Formats: sequence, structure tokens, C-alpha cells
Amino acid sequence: MMHRRTFLKSMALAAAAGPRLAAQANLPWGSPVLDTHLHLRRDADACFTHIQGCGVTRAVLLTPARDESRAIEEMARRPGVFARSVSADPAAADGDQLIREALKAGAVSIGELKFHLALDSPEMRRVYDIAAEMQVPVMMHIQNFPHFAGELPYNTGYPQFDKIIRAYPRTNFIGHGDLFWAHISADVPTDRGYPSGPIKPGGLSDRWLSDFPNLYADTSANSGNNALSRDPDFARGFVKRHQSKLIFGSDCSCLDGKGGGISQNNNPEASRLAGKCVARETLTLLQGLASPEVFRQIAWENGMKLFKIPA
Ligand SMILES: [Zn+2]
Ligand SMILES: [Zn+2]
Repeated sequence: MMHRRTFLKSMALAAAAGPRLAAQANLPWGSPVLDTHLHLRRDADACFTHIQGCGVTRAVLLTPARDESRAIEEMARRPGVFARSVSADPAAADGDQLIREALKAGAVSIGELKFHLALDSPEMRRVYDIAAEMQVPVMMHIQNFPHFAGELPYNTGYPQFDKIIRAYPRTNFIGHGDLFWAHISADVPTDRGYPSGPIKPGGLSDRWLSDFPNLYADTSANSGNNALSRDPDFARGFVKRHQSKLIFGSDCSCLDGKGGGISQNNNPEASRLAGKCVARETLTLLQGLASPEVFRQIAWENGMKLFKIPA
């Protein structure tokens, strides 16, 4: 029989060892991690390989409506690990219907929407209404500078997006992509997608994250990683300021969660992440910018809450 004092002492020791044991075992980042931006892969189980390889706990599989059954199968194979989104072209005749049906069948978000439409177009407005009605967030890929010759811009009209955010107070928007993150700075060059160097305070994305409770930011891809690493002093303040609005996502396409294969679709502008796992890179970056409490918010709590994922 264990004496009470010995018992209390061993409890205290276990509590003290807790975080370290957790770090060594199944929480390599010291906190659970939700990847809110993991594209469903052709071999769906490759998503599980990826999250295991980079120490991610759960993930939202970004799922085009036509691939829904594959996502559902993968979710069933790995209970408690995955949730799924839905995306469909809002300009297609059945776009709205596909989105609505998938949400009714359990999709937790709309996205990513990466189509050649204006942010204030009637097609996108219909999606914002569905997001409000179904109380799910909607994520847009906002990009104007091409990754390859002839690539057209996605979700245009970002400098006027505040009018939309204001007009749809019941819709939770998640900003993502090159131009969204370029606007972390008040000066945005037009000759490249991923500006480098010091950030000029007063950028639209920074201001709007403060001004609007219904705007969130997804840290994924080279765009998020680049924006948060180009000016560490600025980034520390940005992360603190928007600690309840930043949501971890990777958008990584590496094979093993360790940088194998191709991580950013061979986009030459994103070569700084070649051979690296974007999830690992951005989680490491966030650990350097945030306190452990804020890291946990960004890596886990904010996303679980916004996507309403059952714990
Ligand atoms: Zn994207
Ligand atoms: Zn990866």
C-alpha cells in the first residue's frame, strides 16, 4: 500500500513529467495539432502517413464535392482523426447544391474556394449566404500573381474585401493565399507573389483581422510561412495581436511529413520550401514566435472551435 505522502509525491512527479512525456510520445509539438488545410490525396491514406510523419494530431481534408466518398471512407478508417470540407465551383449550375448537400452530410467547412471569380460576385455571395446559414467557415485562396505563365487570378478584388466582410457579419471568412498574406504589409509589390523583407505596418489583412470578428487567417502554404518569417519582430506582434484569429494549416504535399517528394507543387517562387515539410516548418516557426499557450491556440484550439470539430 502506498502512503498518502508518497502517493502525492508521485502524482506531483508525474504531473511535472507530463509535458515532457507527452512531447516524447504522441505530442511532438507539446500540444495537439489540427491541420486545417490538408488536401485529400489520390491515395487517401497518404494523408494519414503525412500527419503521422510531421506530428499532427488531426486534420481537415480539403475535399472537392466529387471526391466526398473517398474522404468519408478515409474518415471511417481513421476514427477521430479526420474531418472534411467541401468545395465546388460556385459558378457551376449545381455548385450551391453540391456545397449544401455535403454540409448536410457532415462537411465542417467550405473550401478551399480557388476559382476565377470576384470576391464580391453574385456566385461567391451565394456561398457566403450558405456559410452563414449552415454556420461553417468559408476559406478562399486569394492570389493575383501567377505561379506559371498564363495562370489567372483567383478571388479578385481583395482591396475591397472589407465591404464583403462587413456585409456578411454572420459568415466566418478564412483568408489564405499569396495576396492575402502579401497584404500583411502596407506595401504590396505587383511583380511577385511572395514579397520578402521588412513589413510596413498598416497592411489590409492585419487591420481587417483586428477590425472584423468574422475574419480569420490560415497560416498554410509558402504564402503563410513566408509572411510570418520575413520580419520576425513584426511577426511576433502580429501573432500576439491575432492569437485568437490565426489557424494552423499546412497545405503541404510532401509524401512523408518529413519533406520527401514535392512539397509546393514545384512552384519555382516557393523553392525556399523545396525538400521541406511545410507543416514542420510552420509549426517550428510558430513555436519561435509564440508562447506555448498561444502556440496551442493557433495549432489546435482556434481551428477546433471555428470548424466545430468534436473533441
Ligand atoms: Zn490555396
Ligand atoms: Zn509535409
